[in-house]
Amino acid sequence: MKLAGEYLTFDDTVIVPGLSPVEPHEVDITGRVTRGIHISIPVVSSPMDTVTEGRMAIALARMGAVGVIHRNLSREEQASMVKSVKEATPSPWIEIPRAFVKEEPGILPIRMAESGSRAVLLLDGPQLVGILLDPDADPSVWHGKAVWFWRIMTTIRPMPSLDSEGRLLVGAAVSPYDLERAQALERAGADFLVTDVAHLHNENALRMLSKLVKNVSIDVVAGNLGTREAVLDVLSRVEEVGGLRMGISSGSICSTGEVAGAAVPTLTAVLNARSALEELGAMDKIPIIADGGIRNPGDAAKAIIAGASSVMLGRFLAGTLEAPGPVITVGGRRYKPYRGMASRGAMERRHAADRYSRPSKALEEGVEGLVEFTGSVVARLGEIALGLQAALGYAGAPNMRRAWSASLARVTPQGRSEVKPHDVIF
Ligand code: IMP
Repeated sequence: MKLAGEYLTFDDTVIVPGLSPVEPHEVDITGRVTRGIHISIPVVSSPMDTVTEGRMAIALARMGAVGVIHRNLSREEQASMVKSVKEATPSPWIEIPRAFVKEEPGILPIRMAESGSRAVLLLDGPQLVGILLDPDADPSVWHGKAVWFWRIMTTIRPMPSLDSEGRLLVGAAVSPYDLERAQALERAGADFLVTDVAHLHNENALRMLSKLVKNVSIDVVAGNLGTREAVLDVLSRVEEVGGLRMGISSGSICSTGEVAGAAVPTLTAVLNARSALEELGAMDKIPIIADGGIRNPGDAAKAIIAGASSVMLGRFLAGTLEAPGPVITVGGRRYKPYRGMASRGAMERRHAADRYSRPSKALEEGVEGLVEFTGSVVARLGEIALGLQAALGYAGAPNMRRAWSASLARVTPQGRSEVKPHDVIF
């Protein structure tokens, strides 16, 4: 037995403030998902059946982020979801149920001539920056939201994530063992693939991944990985890895650390990948995606300072209107379902959807629960984008690449509680 050292988590660290050459709203948060794919908001949604289907992927790409369609579907269903994103209008339209909007400068309620449904145009001076549509009910949640959306849209100026033909970008999850699915997804128009296994650092999985990468022409992100050795092994056995999905056991719905006792917290996993890439001189070639346990823009910024080029979010997006699943009301509060892809419910669905899927283990390593309903994903993305700009502003970094030179400091548990709101009654 050898003790491998200490694994830092987001909560063990704070961002060290540095001299900033720019104002927070000028910070460029353009990130990368794969070698070839850049996005203006460095957010990738988790390929989970309570997070990313077509509707989420469309909303994210319209705002400048990107979605990865989950694989708890038949090959045909997953491919047709990819197609639905490629066929969607790329302009930054937002769906909003029955908005009730006061007259405010820049916000112009209209009635759609053909359908009779209401919509709200968001203007920045004469320029159209967004449209809110209102397909169905509930004024109580949406009252006043348009004002907030307008602020987001005019502050962060969404630049849709587009391919070379002007269509929305979309990724899709695959198993490294399922070349047929990977090829079907490529034919359907997927811009990149993301391998979706809990522990890719496995001889068989790497052999199959190497074959898969040779048989598709789009970028393939490899994951999940945790250690430096895992990254070096992947890069030496698989040619042209498109990106690295880093983090083991930090996910909010993950029970691996408890059930199997294994973990590399996301912040440490990113640092490990960085150490491997720096050794190979490949930091600028292969982007790191930080995956799992990112709860707020501060966590996202720490992952970026550690070396990530984008962050993958599950729970943060699961409570939104655009995530699959119904809004559930319990005791007057609204929730949406959220579950791990290795939870019992998700594994049963996978087996029903695809009889070819052979889970390598029957052990449950995820939990099922509810997360608070948070309204449109546009507001969530706005929160992340504005928060990231602020955090990188503190770090003294005018862009993501420069953030890699910023510093994190370790704090004691006492320090951790001091830097949160404390000693007031809410
Ligand atoms: P979150 O953003 O903290 O909710 O973490 C989401 C991430 O958890 C996903 O992107 C996956 O990497 C991971 N994950 C998803 N399902 C499971 C599971 O059932 N067990 C362990 N990890 C999971």
